[in-house]
Amino acid sequence: MFLKFGARSNNSKRPLCALLLTYVMVALSGCDGDSHDDDGYDDYEVRAEEDAFPYRKNSPYASILKECVLIGTVAESCNVDQMPFIGDGATTPSVDDVMDRVLVTNKWMGRRFEDALRNAPDDTLLTLFSSTTSVLIGSDVRPSFYIATTAGIQIDANYLWVTEQEKSSVSVREDERADYGKDLQFQFIARTADTTGERLTPYFSLEQSAERTVEQMQLPLYRLLYHELTHANDFMPRHKIPDVNPDISLYDAISEIRSEWLSASFISQYPKTSSVLELLAEVRFGGQQATEEQMSMTASDVGEQMHADGAMQFYSYYSEHEDLAQLMESALMAYHFDARINVGFVQKPEATPAPCSEYLVSWGQRNRLGESLVNLRSRAAAALLLNDTQAIEAYLDNELGLSEPMSSGVDWCQNQAFSLSVSNPIQLRNAARPTIDDPAATMNAERFQDMLEFESTHHLYDLH
Ligand SMILES: [Zn+2]
Repeated sequence: MFLKFGARSNNSKRPLCALLLTYVMVALSGCDGDSHDDDGYDDYEVRAEEDAFPYRKNSPYASILKECVLIGTVAESCNVDQMPFIGDGATTPSVDDVMDRVLVTNKWMGRRFEDALRNAPDDTLLTLFSSTTSVLIGSDVRPSFYIATTAGIQIDANYLWVTEQEKSSVSVREDERADYGKDLQFQFIARTADTTGERLTPYFSLEQSAERTVEQMQLPLYRLLYHELTHANDFMPRHKIPDVNPDISLYDAISEIRSEWLSASFISQYPKTSSVLELLAEVRFGGQQATEEQMSMTASDVGEQMHADGAMQFYSYYSEHEDLAQLMESALMAYHFDARINVGFVQKPEATPAPCSEYLVSWGQRNRLGESLVNLRSRAAAALLLNDTQAIEAYLDNELGLSEPMSSGVDWCQNQAFSLSVSNPIQLRNAARPTIDDPAATMNAERFQDMLEFESTHHLYDLH
């Protein structure tokens, strides 16, 4: 899978294309759809990661970036002095510092990414970028992930398109993990909602012809970045960066401080309690075969487990790294964008695809972050990851509000609206709860199914 620089010029179509363009002297959108020049591909083809190129050809890392990112083994991990961490552990990196480390398969991805960094609500993202070395954005990256062999993140271009043309360079390949947990009779669903309970941004299928606004693209991207960058900071805390030995590989630099990974100290102080959910997470997210006992568990059984515990989502049980990342992304999305995370376990409908009306909630909570134990853990996570959390703490105290139980036996879509006043007793709140005109309630079964799959996409870390 590793391609050295220069391999691209082996494609005999390209010189011909350049020649034709010289003759015709017209700004064609591409010759055979292939408009590669020294500056990369400014077109909308679906391209493999091997075709990725540095978004900034004048970056000081342009000549080494690809060699350090497109690797397949621990042995290929670049040395720290070849590809240092973006931050120095003391100062905040600039947008340019980050953009110098970006590889893309299509130029528009870099443009959208840079705009998103410049639009970010504050410096939190840039600060968190300190602990990474690189960003690869690709047509065919799925799922998005952080990987310790490069100390970099890779981003699915599905998070970046705005126009139809851009969307055409995003692969429609299914996430390989879509089938995991198929023997379980329950399903976990989560929605990133606004303060009324509607989705914070609408769902856009890759197969549907619709464009989205820049804001509709950027909010899910910020959530993804808060998540992946939490992994990066977990494995290389910023205060450790000045002490890193430049003569060892990135992978070794990260492995050497294993006992100081942030999630290790976090989980020892703020443990999760449900080993049942941990084992089920191996099935749903790790692809393990379910046992008979696990197959017999209902949505109510697992809901009870989660109710008593302090994790944000089912995926939090996959590892302490995911637990920390889920707490961070939820706290930051709430603080910056008034996002509320609604979660629930439903029994799977007998036949799928099925519309929302058949997804009956057995256990669920609106605003899971407002649950006291979850809230306590998210504050501790923020304190561990960020330099100053006063404003976030104030938000959690004064504006987040409390969690609310969903009504069991009522479908997922009808369970999303928040009550008018969280200060009333639960019975009164439920009685007074407004309804929202939830687009998911009227989606056809197939579209709804696609949306659930999209919403349950989980973002990875990978050690090697
Ligand atoms: Zn993750």
